[in-house]
This record gives sequence, structure tokens and C-alpha cells, in this order.
Amino acid sequence: MEPALAEKIRKKQLQWTPQRETVFSVIANSNNKHLTAEEIFLKTKKIMPTIGLATVYRTLELFCEEGILQKFNLPGEAARYEMLAEDNDVHYHYICLGCGKIFEVPIQKETISSQIENDNIRDFIITKISCWYFGYCKDCMKRQG
Ligand SMILES: [Zn+2]
Ligand SMILES: [Zn+2]
Repeated sequence: MEPALAEKIRKKQLQWTPQRETVFSVIANSNNKHLTAEEIFLKTKKIMPTIGLATVYRTLELFCEEGILQKFNLPGEAARYEMLAEDNDVHYHYICLGCGKIFEVPIQKETISSQIENDNIRDFIITKISCWYFGYCKDCMKRQG
């Protein structure tokens, strides 16, 4: 396991069963950062054929409770899971309602601080940022004419 992942895991007072570790590494090593439970299950099953869907669901819920993952409930779609963003990995999401493609745009820390200033919110600590824009991508707009 990568040292960064091992460190992240070690900090959590979780019992790391082989199942949990496999689910975690599947998500951590996936190119697609926004997986559905079904996709995570199928990938995990390739490594650990005996694992059941219920175990994967339970593990995902646990990871959400522990702040390892965040779950996005998107309208008309299966929920997607993503590693909770570190400070240096905060991004907006643009999701296409036509094909489900997700585009990520990083948010600069300065942008967030000035946003907070502009919004005139005092004594507030942000621990989690979730930002989704919905619309249609170039390809889908073309297809619709
Ligand atoms: Zn994301
Ligand atoms: Zn599209």
C-alpha cells in the first residue's frame, strides 16, 4: 500500500479488515474519482471475488461516517463516492445530465477565502466543500442539435 494511504488509514481508529482495505485501495487507485457503489463493488470483486455487495455498501457508509469518503446524491442517478478532498484538492464539479460525464475544476484556496469574506459569514469553519453544476456537455449539445 502507498505510504500516504497507509498514513490516512492509520489516523482513523478503524479496524482494517482485508475487505475494508481492498475497498479503500480500489477507490484510492481508481482513475475515475467519482464511483458509484456498483462500480466500486465490481472493481473490488475482481480483486476479492468473495466479497458481497452488502459488505461493500456497509464499508462505504462507514468510510463516509469516518470522513474518508464523501457521498454525493445526484438527482436521477446512483450516489457517487469520492475521497474527501484534502486542502489542496478542492474542486468544482460540472456534471453532464446527458452522458454523466464529470469535469473537475480545482478551486484555489484564495478563491474560497474571498468567497467567505464576500458572503460576510463570520466564525465559520469549512470542513467540507461540495460543489456541483449541472448541465450539458459539448457532445450532448451537438447530439441534441
Ligand atoms: Zn470530485
Ligand atoms: Zn454529455
